[in-house]
Amino acid sequence: MTRALILGGTADASLLAAEIARAGQDAIYSYGGRTRAPADQPLPTRIGGFGGVSGLADYIRREAITHVIDATHPFAAEMSRNAVDACAETGTPLIALERAPWTRAPGDNWIEIPDVNAAVAVLPEAPAKVFLAIGRQHIAPFAAKPQHTYTLRFVDPPETPLLFSADVIVSRGPFTLDGELEMMRRRGITWIVARNSGGDGARAKIDAARMLGLPVIMISRPRRPERLRVESVAEIMQWLGHRTCLGA
Ligand code: NAP
Repeated sequence: MTRALILGGTADASLLAAEIARAGQDAIYSYGGRTRAPADQPLPTRIGGFGGVSGLADYIRREAITHVIDATHPFAAEMSRNAVDACAETGTPLIALERAPWTRAPGDNWIEIPDVNAAVAVLPEAPAKVFLAIGRQHIAPFAAKPQHTYTLRFVDPPETPLLFSADVIVSRGPFTLDGELEMMRRRGITWIVARNSGGDGARAKIDAARMLGLPVIMISRPRRPERLRVESVAEIMQWLGHRTCLGA
């Protein structure tokens, strides 16, 4: 009997959970607990950290987990490292569901940088209208450039005051190309700061920036550990031993 643990928090993890539930596969879905009201999943769900590598290893043993699927966001590097170490410790097979990063298309004006601090440095000194599409844990360094007019977009309203003045849009999407174009035009956005998440769900803002000729400061993905990695739900199902039509 297989019993899978999905490390989730992404749209891809939700697609996987739906497929696993449809297949009648025994599995638990795990959220990190960052959003106040995470989407319901069609699987038994737990929420919150495990307590590092040893906590995750204990959880795997206690719940008799036979397979771990790391379907976390490409920027959730700590969880991915912990999964590698805990699976090595417990001898549990591990696979990652990770979409490919976006690549430049003709007309893209990207400045690729390694982290948030480099993004702050690259922003101009003259006041600009900046859309920070990066998640609330990462915005503090932008307080160093308060001359800009910032637009932020979060899933939940901020619980503590921001360190600098900004307009906050509260929305969990989905975001369409038309919607992103309208938002950027209405706010007169001149710069965008984004992380190279990859996938279709967050892509509209990048396509809108290209159409509007706007520069995008693109933060590259953090280094994640080497592990078996695939890009589709069908490949995960096959890895779990289900017959699937790959590419479907
Ligand atoms: P992170 O820095 O890699 O993880 C920090 C800690 O949060 C982990 O060590 C773990 O705590 C806990 N954690 C993270 N994901 C978990 C999960 N799925 N289940 C249980 N515990 C989890 O991760 P993060 O960047 O804060 O992201 C947290 C969650 O939000 C992830 O599930 C990720 O998929 C989702 N998410 C992140 C982003 C992003 O931009 N980073 C975007 C969309 C969604 P313990 O060490 O105590 O186990």
